[in-house]
Amino acid sequence: MLNNILSLFLQNNCPLCERATSEEICDYCQKQLKSFQLKQPQKFWKGDLPLFVWGEYDGKLKQAIAAFKYDKHLQIGELLGVWLAETWQNYSLINPNLFPLIIPIPIHQTKEKIRGFNQSEIIARGFCQVTKYPLKKRGLIRVRSTKPMFSLTVEEKENNIKGAFKLGKSLQNYSVSRPILLIDDIYTTGTTVKEAARMLQHQGKKVLGVLSVCTPRHL
Ligand SMILES: [Zn+2]
Repeated sequence: MLNNILSLFLQNNCPLCERATSEEICDYCQKQLKSFQLKQPQKFWKGDLPLFVWGEYDGKLKQAIAAFKYDKHLQIGELLGVWLAETWQNYSLINPNLFPLIIPIPIHQTKEKIRGFNQSEIIARGFCQVTKYPLKKRGLIRVRSTKPMFSLTVEEKENNIKGAFKLGKSLQNYSVSRPILLIDDIYTTGTTVKEAARMLQHQGKKVLGVLSVCTPRHL
């Protein structure tokens, strides 16, 4: 009886469907989200900048990302980071003794002030809780705000993003030579992460690849 009463108080509403739940997202929505998980997340782990993606940016997962970013349900981003980590650990794509430095792709300071957080950093937090990889929150800084990318051609996108990043102070003063994994929320054309990796490599850092929660189907 007492337990039942207590559990009533501990319940909150699922941010995606309003059902009462004792978890961050209700079981029903978790199941739906997991149906967007890619069958081969390691498929793009090759080439100059290998990529590992958890799911397909569509339907419920798209809705969840919007609720996370725009309605500020940070627990969704953290949970997606945990799922990304659990899947990542199933594939052993890098040496397990490596413990690379995790750097979230930053958004511009002005945008971060308005939103209240950097979405990639929240995902990275969940990811690092599971993997125990060290997290460098402000390893990269976005120095230039960029135009929305969707209307631009590939060449315009590249020019738009060029020089948009610099090393954060925390990374400048970091003397350990650890390789880096970048984390982003949505991987579309890759222009942004490629520029971030290019800048890091230019500074003598080794970038192992990019981890992303989701990508549109047409990739
Ligand atoms: Zn739900």
